[in-house]
Amino acid sequence: MNPVAIIGAGVTGLTAAFYLKRKGIPVTVYESSGRVGGVIRSLRQDGYLAEFGPNTLLETSPKIGQLIRDAGLESRRLDPDPKAEARYVVRYQRPIAMPGSPLGFFTTPLFSSRAKLAVLREPFVPPRRDGKEESIAEFVVRRLNQEFLDQAIDALVAGIYAGDPYKLSVPHAFPKLAQLEADYGSLIKGQIFGARARKKRGEIAKDRAPKFSFDEGLQVLTETLAERLGNSVRLNTTITNLSQSPVGWALEWRREREEARAEHGAVIYAGTAFRLAELNVEAPRAISLAPFAEIRYPPVASVVLGFRRGDVKHPCEGFGMLIPRVEGFHILGTIFSSSLFPNRAPAGHLTLTSYIGGERSPELASSPPDKLVALTCEDLRTLLGVRGQPTFQHTVYYPRAIPQYNVGYGRYRQLMADVEANAPGLFLAGHYRDGVSLSDSIVSGCRVADRVEQHFRVSQPVLFPASAAA
Ligand SMILES: Cc1cc2nc3c(=O)[nH]c(=O)nc-3n(C[C@H](O)[C@H](O)[C@H](O)COP(=O)(O)OP(=O)(O)OC[C@H]3O[C@@H](n4cnc5c(N)ncnc54)[C@H](O)[C@@H]3O)c2cc1C
Repeated sequence: MNPVAIIGAGVTGLTAAFYLKRKGIPVTVYESSGRVGGVIRSLRQDGYLAEFGPNTLLETSPKIGQLIRDAGLESRRLDPDPKAEARYVVRYQRPIAMPGSPLGFFTTPLFSSRAKLAVLREPFVPPRRDGKEESIAEFVVRRLNQEFLDQAIDALVAGIYAGDPYKLSVPHAFPKLAQLEADYGSLIKGQIFGARARKKRGEIAKDRAPKFSFDEGLQVLTETLAERLGNSVRLNTTITNLSQSPVGWALEWRREREEARAEHGAVIYAGTAFRLAELNVEAPRAISLAPFAEIRYPPVASVVLGFRRGDVKHPCEGFGMLIPRVEGFHILGTIFSSSLFPNRAPAGHLTLTSYIGGERSPELASSPPDKLVALTCEDLRTLLGVRGQPTFQHTVYYPRAIPQYNVGYGRYRQLMADVEANAPGLFLAGHYRDGVSLSDSIVSGCRVADRVEQHFRVSQPVLFPASAAA
């Protein structure tokens, strides 16, 4: 019997498995699809490299760099072109570079004088102390103004969550903003006076964290982790049942038409919230997984297009552009993929990665590929001066893409803690619990490996190999 079963071979499950194995604790990873990586998907074709899920990994924690070193991937790491720092936000139907300094902010055409005054006023807006959980829209309008919400935050929220700012919770989806207000009474004061405290904690703010990928895309990471795990990864295997046994947990699975079961000392569930709700769990103490089906994952389509350099008027130098809803386009935003990383397009061409759908227009995400490409080209014509037909096109539809940490999400997080308390040896980890970004998922995978190790040290020292006790 392998001590630990891990359900899900996305980046969370593979990271947890990799570190447990390094700690000397054998694992089996069960993955229902025919491939590892979960939502991470990179495709090399016709000289292009398309990235359909995440495009970059942010080094927000020392654990990210550590994983890259431990997996032996340092030589394959690809840092972005330093010239690709610029980020654009669309206003007046054109991309405008986001200001990079306080002086730039006060001279940018992105915001009106009224919005600029709102920033100067922000340190004097009293913090909210009544404990009401606000949406990010309510928070921004209260501390800044409606224009900030409509022109900047709406676009940012689309870029991170493909979400609705009127629904996303400040303490759950943007915990650092909530913390800045609680600790310093103001976002601006928190930015200035909190820098030293963040440095001391070894934290790097998401907007300043180094971002990177790999020579052949982010899939390099998940494929390498899977290689290191060898035949411990079982593809096409869907776990349907978990039941607590005297030695731990019995898992039942479906693999093609065959059904089988195995015993494990502990189980990590590193799948999605909606599939957690489908699991049938038998344990002495009642646990309820059904509410996890309520967690909303809006659909998103990724549209990766290649163009001849000469067919695109805009220089496309930078990270990409975000588009607020009020501008009335179909796409949520576009990453200038081949400007970010050098090997994403053949010479004389460029790659643009756009997203359609999310909470803004969920019905569009499931459009047929030709329509997705046509809608994207229509927007790119207006925004970037694209002419002619794409030289490369590929779309991927994610029917349930990113969980929405909406107002009230605390109820689900509490339920996750209750499940773990009532079902010892069952651990929940990943994007539906510890943050939606790739780096959050990696940190979640590292932490759950430590928690499982601790669980064995306390509950089953017999299973714990002597070599790992050092
Ligand atoms: C379109 C898109 C763009 C994104 N862009 C970015 C970005 O640019 N930067 C960033 O930081 N993050 C981004 N993210 C988010 C990031 O990619 C994810 O948060 C992260 O990859 C989640 O990893 P995970 O392992 O937790 O889950 P997943 O990748 O969802 O993996 C879960 C796995 O569990 C398996 N599974 C579920 N239930 C079972 C079961 N019962 N039995 C067996 N297997 C099961 C599933 O098949 C799946 O393979 C993006 C996400 C999407 C969808």
